[in-house]
Amino acid sequence: MDEADITAERLEREMARLLAMRRAVGPQPTGECLWCGEPLAPRLRWCSPECRDDWERDHARRA
Ligand SMILES: [Zn+2]
Repeated sequence: MDEADITAERLEREMARLLAMRRAVGPQPTGECLWCGEPLAPRLRWCSPECRDDWERDHARRA
């Protein structure tokens, strides 16, 4: 394994860690809070951690 492989592998692991931290499961951002419909900046999906948690609970129940 050469140095480039090691770097790519490390990057991949870092990406996975970041995604897990952001709990990037679920739908794409729509510009509105997915739980309460509050208008948001693009790329955000919830207006608050509470809305995210409620949404995740509801999502888990339906899944
Ligand atoms: Zn909300």
